[in-house]
Formats: sequence, structure tokens, C-alpha cells
Amino acid sequence: MSKTRVRFAPSPTGFFHIGSARTALFNWLYARHTGGTFVLRIEDTDQERNSEEYLNVIKDGMRWLGLDWDEGPDVGGEYGPYFQSQRSDIYREYLEILRGKGRAYDKDGAVFFKVSGQKQVLHDAVYGDVERLEEKDFPIFRSNGTPVFHFVNVVDDICMQISHVIRGQDHLTNTNKHIELFKAFGAPIPQFAHIPLILKSVGQGKMSKRDKGALIEEYQAQKFLPEAVRNYLCLLGWNPKNNLEIMDISEIISLFDFPGIIKSNARFDERKMAHFNTEHIRRLAPEKFCGLARKVAQDAGVNIGTDPVFADRVFLLCQPKTANMEAFPSLLAPFFNDNFEYDALGREKLFKKGDPALRARELLEFFDALPEIDADRLHGQIEAFAEAKSAKASEYLPALRYAISGQSSGPDLMSMAAILGKEKVVGRLKRFLLA
Ligand code: GLU
Repeated sequence: MSKTRVRFAPSPTGFFHIGSARTALFNWLYARHTGGTFVLRIEDTDQERNSEEYLNVIKDGMRWLGLDWDEGPDVGGEYGPYFQSQRSDIYREYLEILRGKGRAYDKDGAVFFKVSGQKQVLHDAVYGDVERLEEKDFPIFRSNGTPVFHFVNVVDDICMQISHVIRGQDHLTNTNKHIELFKAFGAPIPQFAHIPLILKSVGQGKMSKRDKGALIEEYQAQKFLPEAVRNYLCLLGWNPKNNLEIMDISEIISLFDFPGIIKSNARFDERKMAHFNTEHIRRLAPEKFCGLARKVAQDAGVNIGTDPVFADRVFLLCQPKTANMEAFPSLLAPFFNDNFEYDALGREKLFKKGDPALRARELLEFFDALPEIDADRLHGQIEAFAEAKSAKASEYLPALRYAISGQSSGPDLMSMAAILGKEKVVGRLKRFLLA
């Protein structure tokens, strides 16, 4: 069989919707799975609604998601141009082919395609066989001379030798017209695979661009990991049948195929997307996480000091506690700013139980006597100290955490104390007692 050639064919008339992103993703996955070619084709025949800004948002979103195209804008290729607005001559030539076969005629200034009058069967890789009769002739050029979607879409799929058409289920009803056109040209019919719709998180209906979480740029702005968004999108309409959800892209590429695509519509779940993001943050290799953490901290205006080794230790300590990179800088204050603020709610919680000032005074005595802080030994040492005071370690730990970080939760306490070092811990216990 000849090589797989798939295409993503957006019309740049709006921002990059997750439904479109998922279509691009499935095409890209199929190309990578089969070792084929992924084409980006811009369907910009509707001059009034297209904009350069939308095109850039789509390209930028695709790059962010790692969906690199092998042919198309910016990269070129043998089958260009890849903008429909630059292909008018080709469409005129193809119109002449249809006229020559007696399959196109003028009416009311427009050009109509003459249907075959025969039922067509679509063999869809997801929806199975769909039989339909196209009863009426339909326009392929408008009276203003511009070509119609069905026509240019099919002509380009023929010219670009597209082998598989993977697109949203909302195009299922168009496909009969497309099969009529392929046959009229005497061209091979690509394998179609229509993919289910993405429904909004509650209620009925397709996710619209106004729904929260519907646009890729929202995830970019909120510093989601692109690999997390991509992983989640894969599972909207595809089931790898391995009971796994969090997967690396190489694993997804090797498993992705049409039999795993689900017919029923997929429901978007914002919490699940957030969970995927957290899980992917946890999985990041140390160097990768540190690189990202440094950038996010700097973008947020956190002064991370001049000691990169110290900064990396802090970042890695915070990694398991990082729900998302947008919230990440808030974990850093106690490490890089001695005058961090105390969380008011945490204070209330702390003073409800026991006597934190007493515990802090005792801790001061404890740390003063300690030559240095060793994260592995510290807990045992606090336990022994507590025992000598006829108390439990658990009576000291909340006060210690609050005094050294201003928070009632955060990264591992013993490691935090060790990273800060004895001098700072002592200083902060004193500051807490004065506050
Ligand atoms: N421009 C069409 C769209 O954005 C492409 C349809 C197709 O993939 O064939 O829906």
C-alpha cells in the first residue's frame, strides 16, 4: 500500500478550539503511527471571515502541542500551495474536467455539480457503512465566482493524494457529496474516519467556543503542560484499551489506531484535564522540571537568588506539591523571601489547637542545640525531644511548618527545614514569636 498521507484542514475563522485541536492531534497521531505524512492545509476560501491572527493562533497552538506538520505553511512541500486562497487556477482546471465529463453546468450565475442519481456507500472506519442517496445537484462555484467548500475540499484531497480523511463527525453528512465528487473525477476515495463530537461538561450539546476550557490558548495562558493537554485530548474519543490514562506520547503513538476510536460522543471534563496536568508535572524529569520552574518563577517576578543549586533543590522539593505551574510560584516565597507573609487562615487553624507560641519557644531551644539539620534524622530528633517534654512530635510540627513558611501545608517539612538550614529556621522561629 502507498504511504499514509493525512491532513488537518482548518478554516482560520476563529480561535483554536479543542475540537479542532483534537482533530489535528488524531491526524498527527495517525501519521506518526503509520510513518506517514501530516499535511497542514489552510481552507481560507471565505475571505471575509478568515484572518491572519486566527491562522497564527492555530499554528502557534499546534506547535505548542507538539503537532509538527511535514507539509504546509512555513515548511512547504511538493503539493503546495497549502492555502486554498492561492489555488484558484487549480480549481478552475478541475472545474473544466467536470464540465468535460458533463458533470457541471451553469445556473443562475453559479456552477452546479450534477449528481449521479446513485446511492453511495461510505465505508467509515469509525461509523461503519453509511448508505445515502444524494438527490439534488449542488453548487460548486457561487455566482460571485468563489468555489464552494465541498468542491475545494475534494479537489485538494485528490491533488494532495490524501489517503485518509480524519475529521469531526459533523462532516459525516457532507461525505456523500464528497464521494460523488471523487467518483466524478475518477479519483480513488480516501479512507474516511469520522471522530465523535466533544460535548460540553454539563448538559447537552457540543462544546462551544464560549465554554470554559474550550480554547487551546486558555491552557497556554494558564501554563498547562502541553503534554498533559495532548494526553487528555487523546482520550476524548479514543480508548487505548490498556486501562491506562496517563501516557507518554511515544506510547500513545504506538497504540493509536482506528479500532480504538469510540463512536459515542466524548464529554469534556475540566477536573480531569487539571488532574492530567498535575500528573504530568509529577512525571517531569528533574532537569526538565527545574528548567520550567525557573522560567515560571522568573515570569512571575519571584527573585530566586543567585545560587542555582539551592534553587534547583527548592524546585525539586516543591515538584510533588505542584498542582499546576500557575500556582507554583506561591510555593516559593518561604524559600527566597525571609519576609514572607503569614497565611491568616493557617494562623487561625494553628491557634485553635494547643499553644503554638510555647511550642515555637521550645523548638527554638531544640534547634539552638542542634549542630545542623539533617532531613533524614530530623523527625526522629524532634520525636525524642517531644518525648522529653512529655509531648508528641505532632504537637510541634504544625508550629514548625507555620513558623518557617507562613503556611499550614506545603512540601515535605523535614526537607524544607534542611534546605533552609539551621540559621534561617532559628531566625524564623524568632520572627514568628515576635509577630
Ligand atoms: N475546513 C473544514 C473544517 O474546518 C475541513 C473539513 C475536513 O477536514 O474535511 O471543518
